[in-house]
Amino acid sequence: MTELNLFEITHKQLDECAEILQLDPGVHAMLRSPMREIHVSLPIRMDDGSVKVFQGYRVQYNDAKGPTKGGIRFHPDKTIDSVRAQAAWMTWKCALLDLPLGGAGGGVLCSPKEMSRNELERLSRKYIDQISEYLGPHKDIPAPDVYTDPQIMAWMMDEYFKISQDQQFGVITGKPVAIGGSVGRADAAARGGMYAIREAAEVLGLDLSKTTVAVLGYGNAGHFAASLCSELLGCKVIAVSDSRGGILNREGLDAKAIQRHKSMTGSVIEFPRSQAISNEDLIELDVDILIPAALENVITDVNAGKVKAKILAELANGPTTPEADDILYANGVHQIPDFLCNAGGVTVSYFEMVQNAYMYFWDKEMIHQRLDKKITTSYHAVYNASTRFNIDMRKAAYVVSVMRVVEAMKVRGWI
Ligand code: GLU
Repeated sequence: MTELNLFEITHKQLDECAEILQLDPGVHAMLRSPMREIHVSLPIRMDDGSVKVFQGYRVQYNDAKGPTKGGIRFHPDKTIDSVRAQAAWMTWKCALLDLPLGGAGGGVLCSPKEMSRNELERLSRKYIDQISEYLGPHKDIPAPDVYTDPQIMAWMMDEYFKISQDQQFGVITGKPVAIGGSVGRADAAARGGMYAIREAAEVLGLDLSKTTVAVLGYGNAGHFAASLCSELLGCKVIAVSDSRGGILNREGLDAKAIQRHKSMTGSVIEFPRSQAISNEDLIELDVDILIPAALENVITDVNAGKVKAKILAELANGPTTPEADDILYANGVHQIPDFLCNAGGVTVSYFEMVQNAYMYFWDKEMIHQRLDKKITTSYHAVYNASTRFNIDMRKAAYVVSVMRVVEAMKVRGWI
């Protein structure tokens, strides 16, 4: 059976890369462990008057290339190993996009769907109270991740300002535009994925106007991906799903209408003029492009052999296990690995930091143009490494990123 511990997966991926690059064992060992971990207990007064203690984490993985950067996740199943994995992937992601940033990740073990807005606000502020000394625009910069949003970033920023008595907007990204956020941040991860798909189609000689798409997961990234696929690339989205199930219409689905349906009913299922399809069947659907956009470990050694898509665009973090990678590569499925495919989010976060430092803001066109350039350049760096070393796209992405982090450690005199 497949090993599903995410941190072990990041180790396996790194170990393969170390082998390809013949990394020095000491350097390899250094890249296998986070440089700092902060574990905090967060006592919160709940609305019913009781006190509940939540567990929070922040992992700063590697800051050779600059201050660490990464999202904060509010989730009931968060384990320290999944935060470590998130922080490791952020290190490789920032290096791949050539951002002057290292990698971090954070999380609080909680069930945000069962908490009131007031409880969430108290939790967000308490988390910052406990870790503020380790944060700052030149130290570590959080952002949204699963079940955290611009409002939560706003409370966190406000709390940080109260403690530091210093209004440095660049301490957190993914903020509302009214308080120093960037335009174009909301759909940035999905949009970056579209630019990467466009480049992949070019390399593979696929005519995007004739392609069909399935999107697994209709959360934040997934719903933007579904609408941008048709708007930007001219593809036909024929299937989408969420945790309750999926819908299929071979004539094409209207992403905006699905989003309206989901906001009224809580799910994409039972969308008019569509047939039901399970999440498992959606992965094996006969489409040109498959976009896993929500969960981890959904493409495993069990189903990888049944993937029929030509392009697997990983908008989620960690949707494919290492065993599945090998099967997909052998079957000629072109993977756009997660930390390239969804890097649009942190890239626009970086643009947000730059705008905050300047106190001068760009328009949407400028954001889209600069994001396109970053993703396109990174896609080709990965594609070139994959043909040069004759390895799959994920290993190639690792090769590019790890070489950059190692170079930074070297010139700083760490190794
Ligand atoms: N959580 C997002 C990611 O995994 C964004 C991180 C950021 O903007 O710092 O890429």
